[in-house]
Amino acid sequence: MLHEEVREALNEQINLEFESAYLYLAMSSHYDEMNLPGFASWMRVQAKEEVEHAMRIYDFVHDRGDRVTLGAIAGPTAQFGSVKDVVRQALAHEQKVTQRIHALYQLAAQHNDLATQTHLHWFIEEQVEEEKIVGDVLARIELTGDAPAALIVLDKELGQRSGD
Ligand code: MG
Repeated sequence: MLHEEVREALNEQINLEFESAYLYLAMSSHYDEMNLPGFASWMRVQAKEEVEHAMRIYDFVHDRGDRVTLGAIAGPTAQFGSVKDVVRQALAHEQKVTQRIHALYQLAAQHNDLATQTHLHWFIEEQVEEEKIVGDVLARIELTGDAPAALIVLDKELGQRSGD
């Protein structure tokens, strides 16, 4: 069984991962409307990954013999603008998720919950990767200087990459 505070925080994290999926799906839809299928595909893959993150924690809570509580998933409230603007928002969101994972890890440490800390190691590494990928895409967009031809090349590249 988990300490009550740890269980609650893990359930909140499950919710945040689903919220992330919802946000990226909304971003994917926005890119579709902008006729950028590569960006749309990339964000759609991101959304799917977020559901997998949620399920990793979901399974972990069950494995610890505890209860999963599924709350309402907040819909994206942000206004989506330019290609760059959306990626900036995605990066800010990932940075927020990283902070939450770190806080969760510290909470588990406070309660001497070694199993939860070990489970979170994967997430800590994953967040380094997530922030790097989104940060790299943002840097590439900045390089294009809003030149449509360069954006189309990047869109094509993202469309291929997301098939991994
Ligand atoms: Mg995630």
